[in-house]
Amino acid sequence: MKIKIDRNGRDLGRIIAVYTFNKYYGKNLRSSAQVHHIDGNETNNNNTNLVICQSKEYHNLLHVRTMALRETGDVHKRKCWVCKNYDDIVNLKYDKGEIYHHTNCFKTYMHTYNKNRKNKGAKHE
Ligand SMILES: [Zn+2]
Ligand SMILES: [Zn+2]
Repeated sequence: MKIKIDRNGRDLGRIIAVYTFNKYYGKNLRSSAQVHHIDGNETNNNNTNLVICQSKEYHNLLHVRTMALRETGDVHKRKCWVCKNYDDIVNLKYDKGEIYHHTNCFKTYMHTYNKNRKNKGAKHE
């Protein structure tokens, strides 16, 4: 199952989740806070299924960890965005927002990218 990460935080699932949270805890969430659904089901707004994230980054991290646990059994593994394989963080380079790559994968990727750009440019000459 694919987990959707709220980018603008404006989808209906979040609005209902925030409403449920406010009602249950009797306080208002900061606008930067996001609601995470533990089971990945955004329509399950039972208070036991909700985790409040104080930032988008933390929310993203929860999704990354959940995926890593599901795919590798280890929350500390991270996925290389180039080859799509999971590996230990020590073998990966950090980009940003919990995005990692293998140094060699990235080199290959950039090599192909530059080659394609050159080819495209040649066509237009
Ligand atoms: Zn979430
Ligand atoms: Zn890789």
